Amino acid sequence: LDPETFAGESRAVINFLAEYYPDVETYPVQPQSLPGCLRALLPDAPPENGEPIDVILEEVRSHIVPALTHWQSPKFFGYFSMNASTAGFAGEMLSTGLNVVPLMRAASPAATELESAVVDWMGKLVGLPDRLLFSGGGGGVLHGSTCEAVVCTLAAARDRALSRLGHEGILRLVVYASDQSHSTFQKGARIVGIPRSNFRVIRTSAASGYGLTTDSVRDAVEADVASGLVPLYLCATVGTTGLGAVDPVRDLGELARRHGMWLHVDAAYAGSALICPEFQHHIDGAELADSVSINPHKWFLTNMECCCLWVASPVALTSALSTNPEYLSNVTEESAGAGVVDYKDWQIALSRPFRAMKLWVVLRRYGGAGMRAYVRRHVEMARWFEQELKADGRFEVVAPTRFSLVIFRLRPGHDGDGDAVDGLNRKLLVAVNASGRAFMTHFVVDDKFVIRMVVGGAMTEMQHVQDTWELVREKAEEVGALP
Ligand code: PLP
Repeated sequence: LDPETFAGESRAVINFLAEYYPDVETYPVQPQSLPGCLRALLPDAPPENGEPIDVILEEVRSHIVPALTHWQSPKFFGYFSMNASTAGFAGEMLSTGLNVVPLMRAASPAATELESAVVDWMGKLVGLPDRLLFSGGGGGVLHGSTCEAVVCTLAAARDRALSRLGHEGILRLVVYASDQSHSTFQKGARIVGIPRSNFRVIRTSAASGYGLTTDSVRDAVEADVASGLVPLYLCATVGTTGLGAVDPVRDLGELARRHGMWLHVDAAYAGSALICPEFQHHIDGAELADSVSINPHKWFLTNMECCCLWVASPVALTSALSTNPEYLSNVTEESAGAGVVDYKDWQIALSRPFRAMKLWVVLRRYGGAGMRAYVRRHVEMARWFEQELKADGRFEVVAPTRFSLVIFRLRPGHDGDGDAVDGLNRKLLVAVNASGRAFMTHFVVDDKFVIRMVVGGAMTEMQHVQDTWELVREKAEEVGALP
C-alpha cells in the first residue's frame, strides 16, 4: 500500500469506471456470448510476475466487458435492479479502503456502532415499528443477502421452538410460504434441518392478487396441528419476485401469534419503496413480525452487497448463532456484556465487511427526500409503460403493476391456444433481448408465460422506457403478433 502507487492505481480504476458509465448504454445489454468464450481467452495459470494495472485494465476492457450482461445499463429491466451510485461507490471505497472487520465491537467499535445506528435510521425511514429497532428493544444487522438473513432467522425460530420441544421435535416443525415466496425459504429450511416434507407451499391466485390469504394459511396450519405437527415459521412477502405481490402482513401476523410461529417479512425489493408514505400501508402490522428484511442493494442506490435484517428479539438470534471461542473473548471490561453488539453472533460469517459505511454514505448523500424522489420516478415510468400496454390491444397486463414491476404478455389469438401464445411471448422476449437494446426476464403464472419489466436502474430515464416500448412493439410485429 505504497501511497503513490495506491493513489495512482485507484485513480486509473476510477477513470476506467468513469468512462464505462457514460458508455454503458451503447453496449448490448446482454451479450450474445457462447459458454467458454472468456475461458478461451485466459491463460491456464496466473502470471509468475506481477503486471501493471494498465495492462490489467486493458484486458478488462477487451476481454471481460464485452461478455458482461450490463446490470447498470439504463436499459436493463430484468430480474430486479441492482443499483450502483456515486455515493454507493464512495461508501464502498471507504469501506474497502479502511478494510476493518466489525465482527465484534471490540474488533471495530466505530464500525459496529455505525451499523447499529444506520439500521435504526433505515428502519425509521421505511416506517418499521419501534420494537424492531435498537431504540425499541429490537435491533438490526447488515447481511450480504436476504438468503443469508433468512437462514439466520430460521435458525433462531428453530432453536426457540426446540428449547420447548427438545431436539427430536425438529421432525415436527413446519415452515409455511406461498407459491410466490422466494426459493430462499425452501433452501433455508433445508439448511437448518427442517424435513423437506414439512415445507408447505400455499397456493395463491389472481383473486387475491397472488398474495396469501389468511384462510388458506389457517387451513394448512390447522391441518398440521391436527396431525401433531408444530407450525414454526411463516414467510410474508411485500413485493414477490415474480409478480410484486403483497401478502397481508397484519392478518398473517395475528395468525402467526395465535400459533406461536415466527413471522418473517421479506421485502427484499419493494422494501425500498416503503420510504414513501403512499407505500407504507403494505407494512401495516409489522409490529407483529419477528423479523423483516430489505435489500438496499436492489433499489436503494447502494452497491452490492447490502441486506438489512431487523429482529424483534436480538436474543433469539444470538442464542442460535453465538459462539465464544477463547481467541475472540473480550479482555477489556467495558467492551463485554449487556448492550454490546457483537455482530459475529447476528450472522453466519465471522469476518464481515464494513457495510454500514456504504449505506451511511448513501443516506447522508441523498437523504430521505432524495431517495423518495428516486423511487417515485421509477414508479411513474413503470405506470407509463403499463398505460401504453393497456392502450395497445395486442397486449395484456397480467397482474396489477406493483411498485415498479410491470407484468405483461401478448394476448392469445382468436383461437385462444395457450401453447401458441406462450410460444409467441417467448419469441418476443428472446427478440427483445437479442436486439441488445433492452433486457427483460420472464415468469410463469397460472401456466402462462409472462414478461417482467422492472424499472429500477439508477441511470434509467423516461427516454429509455419510451425507446423500450418502441422496441417491444417492433418485435411484437416481427414475431407475428396479430394486429
Ligand atoms: N426475496 C425476494 C422477494 C427477492 O426478490 C429476492 C431476490 O431477488 C430475494 C429474496 C433473495 O435476495 P438475495 O439475492 O439478496 O439473497
